[in-house]
Amino acid sequence: MYEHVLIPTDGSETSEHAVDEALEVASRFDATVSALYVVDTDSVGISLGAEQVDRIRQGRFGEMDDLEARASDATAYVAERARERGVDVEEHARAGRPASVIADFADDADVDLIVMGSHGRSGLSRVVLGSVTEHVLRETHKSVLVVDTGHAGEDAEDRGGDGE
Ligand code: ATP
Ligand code: MN
Repeated sequence: MYEHVLIPTDGSETSEHAVDEALEVASRFDATVSALYVVDTDSVGISLGAEQVDRIRQGRFGEMDDLEARASDATAYVAERARERGVDVEEHARAGRPASVIADFADDADVDLIVMGSHGRSGLSRVVLGSVTEHVLRETHKSVLVVDTGHAGEDAEDRGGDGE
């Protein structure tokens, strides 16, 4: 049913739970995984030249600053966990507006399932969904599995001790 699963990742700890769940699905369906990190050029203060955008696509982060280097770390985490489970994985990086890039990538690469976290790096569990996930849901016609990552990490205490 699912042959190609897309895991968009922002490299946040909150998202690691989503990665595990995505790989569990991929493994059961014997699907190939594409891990995708998008360097968010929408963020204030980031503007990349054509040469940098190219370099990102080619995965050449070595020469770049911390922000872009996060890309290789993010997808490397997914790749490592995938290999542990014997799941075929490819790492991809792009630059642009994350939600649009994710939706376009899903079309271009013939993805049949997108698995992503409800929250990511900003991790504001007060909002129902992170903005990237919300926009992907609006912009793609692919199936999307949204893993609840909103209560991970520092927000755990706010739940008032429900036994976890
Ligand atoms: P916001 O960014 O709206 O302040 P947030 O960071 O908590 O809130 P999102 O950015 O929507 O929430 O993150 C939810 C999921 O979206 C992440 O788990 C990840 O799967 C995906 N995602 C977010 N940013 C990126 C990115 N730059 N590249 C790839 N995937 C991303
Ligand atoms: Mn975010």
